[in-house]
Amino acid sequence: MVSHRDHLAAVKSEINEVTVAETAELLSGANPPALIDVRERDEYEQGFIPGSLFIPRGNLESRIEVAVPNHDQQVVIYCASGNRSAYAAKTLGELGYSHVSSMSGGFSGWKQAGREWQTPRALTKEQLDRYSRHVLVPEVGEAGQLKLLDSKVLLIGAGGLGSPAALYLTAAGVGTIGIIDADVVDRSNLQRQILHTDDRIGMPKVESAELTLKALNPDVKVVAYTERLESSNVLDIITGYDVIVDGTDNFPTRYLLNDASLVAGIPVVHGSIYQFEGSVTVYKPHEGPCYRCQYPEPPPPELAPSCAEGGVLGVLPGVVGTLQATEAVKLLLGIGDPLIGRQLRYDALTMEFVELKMKRDPDCPVCSKDPSEIEFIDYEQFCAMPSRAVATPAQEAVA
Ligand SMILES: [Zn+2]
Repeated sequence: MVSHRDHLAAVKSEINEVTVAETAELLSGANPPALIDVRERDEYEQGFIPGSLFIPRGNLESRIEVAVPNHDQQVVIYCASGNRSAYAAKTLGELGYSHVSSMSGGFSGWKQAGREWQTPRALTKEQLDRYSRHVLVPEVGEAGQLKLLDSKVLLIGAGGLGSPAALYLTAAGVGTIGIIDADVVDRSNLQRQILHTDDRIGMPKVESAELTLKALNPDVKVVAYTERLESSNVLDIITGYDVIVDGTDNFPTRYLLNDASLVAGIPVVHGSIYQFEGSVTVYKPHEGPCYRCQYPEPPPPELAPSCAEGGVLGVLPGVVGTLQATEAVKLLLGIGDPLIGRQLRYDALTMEFVELKMKRDPDCPVCSKDPSEIEFIDYEQFCAMPSRAVATPAQEAVA
């Protein structure tokens, strides 16, 4: 039989230990280590070291490879006093991590040394319940869910694309959902615009959307704008949002939004649908192409079919709007590979997805300019005059 004390001493002799002062110095250096807090939740809630990752000891083996994918990255582990972290350091060594240390003295030692610490914001019991399937995904987790709750997404349009996007973003706990739409609910909308219901025909769409979304998730604040985006209001409305989901059905708004998002520096998740075909892409200002890199000018009105003329399979916006919501959540969480410089096209009849690469145009009429030089154009007036015809694929025409 080996006593706990002897066992601990043996473990400590096999691992590397760093002091509180050494840890603080490492953290302020050019290549700070990954700092892992392996205590239990109730301890963590009392306070933690800023910048640390909270992975309770019991979850360490299963979560460490997502948290620290590089096995050669320097890792410092701490617990309350430096004992559990010693065992954890030994485990990480066995998992192939080459540069692991345990902080002697633990969080108590850190506090006693007068070092900076903070208490976490945590999900409430109800939120842990509601978002439990997010919390279980390492790439989201509690920190990711808190990030979503702090996030703001603006939906342009409460129609075919805006409906599924709004429902999923609200269910996901995106804390603020702005919706702009000047229309009222029409019977012909109900074939695809699943935010609305038959008894709300005639009601402003944003009002109907708010009723549906608040019923789904009371955590979410809905900001409703019963107006059209115009050059005079666009910056006031979009500023402060983290991501814009574009479900517009008209060219003037699409171009105005593109230009304004470049000025405000907000990524736009763009979707469009036509009959059986849809497409999704992400325009992230100055990191990839913008809408005008592809289509520098709007087509003349006679070449741009409206949704009423073109028609659309009712399920199609469900697919495309849901893909847009997925991209929005990825952008908010900073995970995965967003569709920047890539256009995903979907054909519902053949059930095929095709990806097209899109390049940024160095001579683009807007994104090549300094944002301060971009002027907004209201195209309704512009299109009333004879204009240059620009070939535009049908898929780009309506939403
Ligand atoms: Zn551009």
